[in-house]
Amino acid sequence: MSHPNPSDSFFAQAMESFERAADLMQLHPRIRLELQEPDCEHAFYLTVEMEDRLVPLNEAEAGAFATLPASSFPALQNLETLADQSRVLPAQALRQANVSMKDGHLRLEDGKVYRWVPGAPRRFCAWRVQHNQARGPYKGGLRFHPAANLDVFKALAADMTWKTAIADVPFGGGKGGVQVDPNMLSRKELQNLALRYAYVAKPFMGPELDIPAPDVGTDASIMAAMLRQYSDGERFRHLQRGFITGKDTRIGGSEGRTQATGLGLVYCIEDFYAEKKDSISGKTFLVQGFGNVGSYAAECMHQRGGRLLAAGDVGGYIYNPDGIHVPRLLEFMRHHPKGKMATVVDFKEAQVISKEEFWKVQADILIPAALGAEITEEVAKNLKVKLIAEGANGPSTPEGDRILFARGIELIPDIMANAGGVITSYYEWLQNRNMEYWSEDEVCRRLRLALQRNYRIIRDIARNTPQKGDSHDSRGFCIGQTMDMRCAAMVLALRRIEAHYLLEGFSQ
Ligand code: NAD
Repeated sequence: MSHPNPSDSFFAQAMESFERAADLMQLHPRIRLELQEPDCEHAFYLTVEMEDRLVPLNEAEAGAFATLPASSFPALQNLETLADQSRVLPAQALRQANVSMKDGHLRLEDGKVYRWVPGAPRRFCAWRVQHNQARGPYKGGLRFHPAANLDVFKALAADMTWKTAIADVPFGGGKGGVQVDPNMLSRKELQNLALRYAYVAKPFMGPELDIPAPDVGTDASIMAAMLRQYSDGERFRHLQRGFITGKDTRIGGSEGRTQATGLGLVYCIEDFYAEKKDSISGKTFLVQGFGNVGSYAAECMHQRGGRLLAAGDVGGYIYNPDGIHVPRLLEFMRHHPKGKMATVVDFKEAQVISKEEFWKVQADILIPAALGAEITEEVAKNLKVKLIAEGANGPSTPEGDRILFARGIELIPDIMANAGGVITSYYEWLQNRNMEYWSEDEVCRRLRLALQRNYRIIRDIARNTPQKGDSHDSRGFCIGQTMDMRCAAMVLALRRIEAHYLLEGFSQ
């Protein structure tokens, strides 16, 4: 867990637009220093007990067990299958089991021979980066991913500081998670990892201090486990619900939160076209990453008449020049027996293409909704789209970004385009705090207004056209010169953060 600090680190790249905007608006040097590095970087270890595994043998190895009869585990309908095809064998599976073993091997009813590997404790690296709290409690997702590291979390935590300021919600920025491949852990192990995280992080997190939410590799069930761990034994448990957002609606989650990021992104795209007296109807689009953000964005685009030409996820990419039927693809993905390991490439109503081919598909809109740094210089040169609406955080590298700008490809930057999630998280936190319940219509109405207002301010900053419109007022934010949208979004964020430092001053 050493501190990575090369100038080409993910964090340094992510801070490039901060530095640019800070130069342009001549940000106060003290405020610049306060924002250049996080307030706190927590690095810790989580030790979790792993369950027993059944690891499949290859055909040659299995030959030695040709006469081994199949074992059955009726207490469990199905043994959970992990990404490497190993099966999880929880203790309760042995109840009523009929097991035949030879040298620690057994055959399952699928005909394959497996080696029984006993569970053991395993240690994971975990982090929580708290970037800035000038505007309110730290706020940001919790990521379970094999490539998670301090550098990535620093970049993502800073991103949250800008995003909460742009969205004008009274939070700061934080981010954290665990270096783990969630597809290689059982549901119970993942839950235990989340419980352990909440236990260790409790001293520095809380509803008024630092509020996590789902991100890549975590979901509402992980949020529920963390809330339980955090609030267990507390005298006023109900007052702790705002510790975490992205919860199930039955335990204090907000209506509309699950689809909020994808929907918010589509509200921005809608506003982009509305300004040109146009609409999403008839526009073609591509989606990279078909998880929470990508799938809901595709659904909302489809509902507005958009046509999905190509989509991709960690399993590969698909293409249909006549349009991929989004409701059928969603049905396929959401009810797939492989669950979280389902991939779009198994959807038969489209042809499989390579990643290189995906980037070259001609379409009106590209929605990157997977991971960061996907749109490299090479990709940016080849893209055949007119607008990029960034669902993922930091999907373009700085070199890629420069090429997109030079090529005149329009951009709705991540810190604006994917702010729907954090805005609705704020609504969830508010509802929890006030013991209120808002309908989905109410949430969507507020979300649309919030995104529209701030998106329009950013457009005015980029064009240097200060004005007071029906729904927005950009007069206090334009800085007397034009700039690209990413820089404009950053100027808006910095103006709002700067106000706190300038008006409240600094504690020495
Ligand atoms: P998710 O885990 O639900 O989905 C991620 C998707 O990306 C999956 O389809 C996965 O297969 C795909 N993917 C992963 N690695 C890939 C690769 N190398 N190539 C192609 N596809 C790959 O995550 P999510 O919540 O949808 O988040 C997606 C992005 O949006 C992340 O960058 C996240 O930080 C950002 N984001 C999410 C939210 C939110 O509310 N969920 C809010 C703001 C930003």
